[in-house]
Amino acid sequence: MRNRTGPTREAKAEVAVSPVKINGTLVQPGTRITIDLPVARLYTHTDLHMPVQIVHGARPGPRLFISAAIHGDELNGVEIIRRLLRHGSLPRLRGTLFAIPIVNVHGFLDRSRYLPDRRDLNRSFPGSGRGSLTARVADLFMKEIVSQCSHGIDLHTGALHRENLPQIRANLDDPDTADLARVFGVPVLINADLRDGSLRQAAAEQGIRMLLYEAGEALRFDELAIRAGLRGILRVMRALGMLPSKSRVPVEKRQPLVARASSWIRAPESGILRTTVRLGARVEKGQVLGYIGAPFGDLEYEVEAPANGIVIGRTRLPLVHEGEAVYHLARFSKIDVVAERVEAFHARLAPSDSEESEGEAPVV
Ligand SMILES: [Zn+2]
Repeated sequence: MRNRTGPTREAKAEVAVSPVKINGTLVQPGTRITIDLPVARLYTHTDLHMPVQIVHGARPGPRLFISAAIHGDELNGVEIIRRLLRHGSLPRLRGTLFAIPIVNVHGFLDRSRYLPDRRDLNRSFPGSGRGSLTARVADLFMKEIVSQCSHGIDLHTGALHRENLPQIRANLDDPDTADLARVFGVPVLINADLRDGSLRQAAAEQGIRMLLYEAGEALRFDELAIRAGLRGILRVMRALGMLPSKSRVPVEKRQPLVARASSWIRAPESGILRTTVRLGARVEKGQVLGYIGAPFGDLEYEVEAPANGIVIGRTRLPLVHEGEAVYHLARFSKIDVVAERVEAFHARLAPSDSEESEGEAPVV
């Protein structure tokens, strides 16, 4: 990597950029290094680390963190960050990028959402250095990464056996955050309340602007979700002036497609589910989204849409208990426009059959 060995000429000329300090190490402007943050010692006597790559630009600019696998089984973001770090424009970065592909290393090893103490890291922020294991990981992440940043993008997927249409959740009441959410370029934005203990809440308390990207399913790679995430991050970085724009920044000037409300539709009965709608489908009130039947086929229940909307999440597992959340429906005031944009989004980003999914970053 070009900048790994030391400051570039540009960095020497620009004295205004100061080094970044992380885990006691000074990262000089114009350099790129990987630092292993000590998380905890395992009971095998092995030390566990959270790997962080810092790309510290030679020129001043925002400090952005991109994090993934805060829920240890959510993998699309790990691949998004891998592709981002190979992107050809990074040597020209202004400002600083903190890339943390695996925040919850314990969960990642266990292929689990949680930590070994069964806590959810995204309900444990800002954490405490003397608290539970999960609280200590949260505290480390806040102190070493988040507190140094002006902006953040946290990458998530649906939970186990659930898939999400690519969507941004953010505090859209803040105009600057709303602009970044629009720039990201996914068809669905959700003005999400801050949850107690979430990274978004802890970051907001420090005045850090954050987007949460949700796309795909736990323990799976989803090529469309990965492409949309990488494209969105690059667009946000260009809008922030961190990366050079090819032409003008493609800001969506059209009305943002903010969901008025969203809710999960629950299974009316237990049984075996046959889904008849795809993710992103536009559905009408009363439309059948799926059928729940018995193994012998003698009984069948319809799962109906309670309102007009777009399916932004759904279960992938055909085995359901009554009361289980099976479809996530978002309501919009301009549903025709949303439906069109979801179509266009899929057409633009869907991998073609001839294309290899394990490839270089797409042109964005
Ligand atoms: Zn998550």
